[in-house]
Amino acid sequence: YNALKRQIIDDFFSRMNPMQKQAVYAIHGPVLILAGAGSGKTTVIVNRIANMIQFGEAYDSDYMPAQITQEDVDFLEEYARGESWDLERAISLIKNRPVAPWNILAITFTNKAAGELKERLQAMLGEAAQEINASTFHSACVRILRREIENLGYRSSFTIYDTDDSVRVVKAALKAMNIDEKRFSPKAVLGEIGRAKDQLLSSADFASTVGEDFRLQVIAKVYDYYQKQLMSANAVDFDDIIMLTVRLFQKFPEILDKYRSRFRYVMVDEYQDTNYAQFMLVNLLASQHQNICVVGDDDQSIYKFRGADIGNILNFEDQFPGAKVIRLEENYRCTGTILDAANAVIENNTERKGKTLWTKNDTGVKIKVHRAADEGEEARFIADTISENVKQGAKFSDHAVLYRMNAISNTVERGLVKYGIPYRIIGGLRFYERKEIKDMISYLSVLNNPSDTVRLRRIINEPKRGIGDSSVNNVLEIAAGVELPAFEILENAEQYPALSRKATSLMQFAEMLRALMEKVGKISLDQLLDHVLEETGYLSMLQGEGFEGQTRLENIEELKSTMIRYEEENDDPTLAGFLEEISLYTDIDRYDPQADNVVLMTMHSAKGLEFENVILVGLEEGIFPGMQSMYDPTQIEEERRLAYVSLTRAKKRLYVTTAAQRMLFGQTMRNRPSRFLNEIPKELCEMEDTTIARRMSINQRQTPSAAFKSTSKVGIGAAAQPESNFTLKVGDMVSHKVFGQGMVLSITPMGNDHLVEVAFESVGTKKVMAKFARLHKI
Ligand code: ATP
Ligand code: MG
Repeated sequence: YNALKRQIIDDFFSRMNPMQKQAVYAIHGPVLILAGAGSGKTTVIVNRIANMIQFGEAYDSDYMPAQITQEDVDFLEEYARGESWDLERAISLIKNRPVAPWNILAITFTNKAAGELKERLQAMLGEAAQEINASTFHSACVRILRREIENLGYRSSFTIYDTDDSVRVVKAALKAMNIDEKRFSPKAVLGEIGRAKDQLLSSADFASTVGEDFRLQVIAKVYDYYQKQLMSANAVDFDDIIMLTVRLFQKFPEILDKYRSRFRYVMVDEYQDTNYAQFMLVNLLASQHQNICVVGDDDQSIYKFRGADIGNILNFEDQFPGAKVIRLEENYRCTGTILDAANAVIENNTERKGKTLWTKNDTGVKIKVHRAADEGEEARFIADTISENVKQGAKFSDHAVLYRMNAISNTVERGLVKYGIPYRIIGGLRFYERKEIKDMISYLSVLNNPSDTVRLRRIINEPKRGIGDSSVNNVLEIAAGVELPAFEILENAEQYPALSRKATSLMQFAEMLRALMEKVGKISLDQLLDHVLEETGYLSMLQGEGFEGQTRLENIEELKSTMIRYEEENDDPTLAGFLEEISLYTDIDRYDPQADNVVLMTMHSAKGLEFENVILVGLEEGIFPGMQSMYDPTQIEEERRLAYVSLTRAKKRLYVTTAAQRMLFGQTMRNRPSRFLNEIPKELCEMEDTTIARRMSINQRQTPSAAFKSTSKVGIGAAAQPESNFTLKVGDMVSHKVFGQGMVLSITPMGNDHLVEVAFESVGTKKVMAKFARLHKI
């Protein structure tokens, strides 16, 4: 019976290699799986859960249930020989103390990963999968807090504040405490409070650690005030969620007991990126029953800047003595070429345990390294590559475009939009959907057209000017009543009694806009944007917001690149024209997140995921590795781990792009190719350099922006037909690389190209840029 039983279970998990099987069958006691990318760590978690639920401890014990008859054993023999298919009966005869699905807690890093885990469990287990608690740390803790938080003095209906809400509370705290916001930026203070919470420090604990540091002393007081405010509003912030759960467990042993017996089996994926609070949470839950399995890879630790502690995984064996340690060395995901490249890169790190992955997979094709003349051509290469693959039968969703910083997505998105390629951004917004971009465009729209009340409403109190909704409503009502543009009411606010309380703020606002309007047409668009940023107070608002403000500022700077490009491509650039061109990107076919889309995301959010084809954009010194980490060896190692994560996302094809010259943040830069790219052995790469011909035509002594002008004209112009050759008319039949044939419905000239609306037979109506997307008349 026992031999048959093991044979059947082994067959059931036949896809797992012997090391993976060890982890799948070891359901009791601590288990550490420390292994490289694509070696099946996450897969092991899924299969281990399936084993627990279906077979329980059957594999590991020699127990035979008393009621098993000879007939049953005969059946098992038949089943093992493949003469019967009644899996359910086989399982029912084999299983030994199976684990109930609700006794399992499986934690992953992102919502997307949790979703995928659930899907894979559903596919293996059907209904039972519903009852498994597979979630992120945060959602698991929120569920616990909803039931138990009353013990900590909150009500169970507590609200979860997002960053904006929290910042508002910090601001109010600073004001109440008479602390100058300029010296203590609310975002920075909030960041400090968050770090304290990750370390499980209450405001009192924090205060006792700060010593003589005046700045931290102040922050400790703000923390205290802030926390009381949250409590009286019955609200928690994001970082509270884990800290409060840990506190609950520490203060109330009977509650901890309840969850210990509920979550008898705990599993954590991507354990290398857990912070102290998360570590404590896991420890509290598992220290008694010791049924804990963590998986991770020290080479993929990329969240140190958020408090992740690689020590959690490296010291696991000390925390849980007797842990079974399993190393997986075979990579199932990548081609030999991709894996060789990733191994070669990560070898340059000194602070690592050291392991080399191998694969039985085919060598595959070489890594295509495309050196573009500029970021526009880079975007075109990306769009073209995806189109070509799709034409060969790939899906859009087989493609992931990964970048180091958000701002890079702008030009990539523009390329995809011009081609008509559907895409979505994971873990973030599309460029033109970002708040700061929408705000800037709204300002510009109002300057262009003061009667745009929708946009006016958006920006009137952004940054905060003390003009609330009710004042705005009053203004609009009056405007409607006297039939004057709202802007005029603002300019003369003091004449309307209903506005008297806010008259000064309203008039100041109008005056500021009026001064900006005077500048329209007199200075270039990017200069205008600079003025808007500065004079509206938007710049100083962002400058006070620490890391996040910096990212948002980078995005706005990146909007400038778009403006400069627009000005270069148009003989008669105007604000109105720019806004019209932008509208193409802002209201392009509302996309369907379920549909077949190319996915764009940062390298960080790609952790744990895999795609057939991966395109890594902008592998240049100063971008990746970023400027801030370039001279710090520890940070370079963290960036290199990110390179390792990025390279190993690709299953089949990997593309890497660099641009000889790139406009980013409104500035032209010439970056050398990334050191990480140079660390990939040359023989694994196929180089494609479109800059050579062009380099000969550029006078190197030109100023950077003049040089850009000439490259962009030579670059894009040379590859496409000259302007005068544009012959498409409405009603023409055309062909597109991906969408096939269609009929032209409308044509709008735009820059040095034309926006063409085409009714395609395959996908319906789409808008594409004629030259950029290489639309052909047939
Ligand atoms: P990462 O470090 O990127 O999170 P991972 O170690 O979690 O990677 P998985 O995502 O579990 O790796 O697996 C990578 C790929 O290999 C998946 O497509 C998975 O289906 C496949 N795979 C895992 N184990 C095996 C196996 N034993 N046989 C065949 N394919 C496998
Ligand atoms: Mg994984």
